Amino acid sequence: MIIPDQPLVLTLALPTPLYRHFEYLAPANLSIDGRKALRPGVRLEVPFGKQTLVGILLSISNHSTYPIHKLKPANKVLDNAPIITGDVLALCQFAADYYQHPLGEVMMSALPQKLRASDGILPQTTYWQLTTKGKGLNASNFKRSPKQQSAWQALLAQSPITEPALGALNIDKPALRQLHKKDLAESFQQTNPAAANTPSTHAILKEPPRTLNTEQQAAFNALTFDAFECNLLEGITGSGKTEVYLHAIEHVLQAGQQALVLVPEIGLTPQTVARFAARFAVPITQLHSSVAKGARLENWHAAQTGQARIIIGTRLAVFAPAPHLGIIIVDEEHDASFKQQEGLRYNARDLAIVRAKHNNIPLLIGSATPSLESLYNALNGRYQHLRITERAGSASAPTVQRIDMRKQTQHCGIAQASLDAIGATVERGEQALVFINRRGFAPSYICQSCGWSAACKFCDARMTLHSKPRKLHCHHCGNQSHTPSQCPSCYNPALTALGQGTERAEDMLQTSFSQHEVIRVDQDSMQRKNAMAELTTQLNEGKPCLLVGTQMLAKGHHFPNVTLVVIVDTDQGLMSGDFRGIERMGQLIVQVAGRAGREEKPGTVLIQSYRPEHPMLEQLVTEGYHNFAQSLLAQRKQSLMPPFSFMALLRAEAKHPDSARSLLTHAAQLARDIMPPSDNCSYLGPIPAFMERRNDRFRFQLQLQFSNRQARSQLLKTLILEVDKLPLSKRVRWSIDVDPQDMG
Ligand code: ADP
Ligand code: ZN
Ligand code: ZN
Repeated sequence: MIIPDQPLVLTLALPTPLYRHFEYLAPANLSIDGRKALRPGVRLEVPFGKQTLVGILLSISNHSTYPIHKLKPANKVLDNAPIITGDVLALCQFAADYYQHPLGEVMMSALPQKLRASDGILPQTTYWQLTTKGKGLNASNFKRSPKQQSAWQALLAQSPITEPALGALNIDKPALRQLHKKDLAESFQQTNPAAANTPSTHAILKEPPRTLNTEQQAAFNALTFDAFECNLLEGITGSGKTEVYLHAIEHVLQAGQQALVLVPEIGLTPQTVARFAARFAVPITQLHSSVAKGARLENWHAAQTGQARIIIGTRLAVFAPAPHLGIIIVDEEHDASFKQQEGLRYNARDLAIVRAKHNNIPLLIGSATPSLESLYNALNGRYQHLRITERAGSASAPTVQRIDMRKQTQHCGIAQASLDAIGATVERGEQALVFINRRGFAPSYICQSCGWSAACKFCDARMTLHSKPRKLHCHHCGNQSHTPSQCPSCYNPALTALGQGTERAEDMLQTSFSQHEVIRVDQDSMQRKNAMAELTTQLNEGKPCLLVGTQMLAKGHHFPNVTLVVIVDTDQGLMSGDFRGIERMGQLIVQVAGRAGREEKPGTVLIQSYRPEHPMLEQLVTEGYHNFAQSLLAQRKQSLMPPFSFMALLRAEAKHPDSARSLLTHAAQLARDIMPPSDNCSYLGPIPAFMERRNDRFRFQLQLQFSNRQARSQLLKTLILEVDKLPLSKRVRWSIDVDPQDMG
């Protein structure tokens, strides 16, 4: 019970690295409206040392553990209604707890950047409705202006209706302005109308849905819409998983709900968004880092008010507000981009599960190459396992062959047999794709007479030679330098590029197939905003051509005329030091291979390797991803690696190696004191990271492994507070990574 006449003590989460909450008094001279607005979830501006910060109100009371007169008043209340509420608030609290991250920082990262500042306010929404005069008319009044007629009809079907909703129905603004001029329609603006907004179920489809095939239909039928369930849709590439998502979304839209769809990188898969927009006549909003700041606030607001019925975004969208959420879909759930690698190191797929559970709604995660974690949960019955084993429509699965590089003459890393196949493909008027997971010209630049190689000044890494323009680049810290004209060590003027990158393959292929276009697809060549969409359009014209590129080409694209895929190097993945190396290699191969033969013409995949007999590669090629993944699971079980154990990494980096290592030595000792090593927990380290020096800092890590999540959470909670007290922790950058994806 809060007594109004007594001082109001506000508990806030502030965006600071500190693991605690902060207390303030309510702002002085608070108006009655201001007092009413003081509810958990509103933002306040507060003094914090010499700065001002924006924080989120967590609770209100009349008591404090501090003497009340020592508390400072907040400067002002920024919102008139809570902006983090319900399931998002619960999700933030869960994430702070699970990832061991300060709640204030979690909540701020859940908000669009503009709202993290005190001058950021919610935009207004424009609504349209018919006037009394407008309601009195009938369709025959608009015989000569069909556009005004459809606008009038849309308003007759639903009034008031927001401008974005009208946009999704293809109603244009000039028509609305005409109606307004004739006093038939009027508009008004409103902030935060979430509660007032009952979603419409009118006119959801823009085009008729496709008829699902038997396997797709079975998957769709297995979905339960009125309760939480996690569904793993394991469907081979091109099996029509997207069509199942579209049907599921249609179902929730009919029920007046919203759908949240998480995808790896929107810029790389413009086709997905286009397919959603082509199917549905409802407002769709996008949330990802390439949406401009202002637009991101508007899009976020459209989701928050319930106007946006479909929210498509990258990992950050898992925090998007959606008052009528009916389903969460995570496409390509295995993709590493769902895990944030800095700050709050969350996995959006895992948070999606928590959020769906909180809302008691279904979660649908899909992939042709599910992560071992998800597959394990599907196999042990925790998730419902839905499978599609055949390609949709008339497409069939591609033929896969391995090429033994030991028996091949090669040209810049590409085997003669591959070149022959590429030649035959373009001769037939089809398209070929060459996959090299390395951008630049060559991964090293060396002196053949003394063995010198160009290394980064700031990292334990070689510089990559780029030819367009000619420069050396470090792919780890961004450092660039000119190519030396002679060897700095022995003055030999003839330096050599060693190994293959996309630029080198592009040059070689362009020389070999000069009558056809060669298109390079990598981070360097695809920097323009719509580059991927333009490429898709160009490829769909169907002219024979050659694509050469990195894993950008592996991301769910549908290039109907690509019939040959050449995978240049698989050996790196087979020899990776990361325990997920082989899993990732398998996923990448299958995803890239999946670009071949997606329509009538059959596809071929050539996998080049110096170890084609490697048992894992063998199994992947002959039995497919599912069996390959099951073998990997058996290995993980033997070695007690995730998902059969639960990991956390304590990372530390500093200019001086001793300070980073020493902090972790202390931390390891603390961990042993808090929870002595046993069957339930073990601590490994400190050990140097795979790349010990990066960006001029020395990096070490302590690997913490547990038999269950509870033990992990229990240890980490205490450990972090203790590490935070160590004097060294102020001089060393350190962080905790729960369920690390990248072990380097
Ligand atoms: P995935 O997402 O599983 O890789 P897509 O959803 O992109 O596969 O579907 C691959 C192709 O099959 C697309 O061109 C799609 O339009 C087509 N397709 C999907 N479902 C059907 C269906 N039921 N009948 C005919 N074609 C379909
Ligand atoms: Zn030399
Ligand atoms: Zn570097």
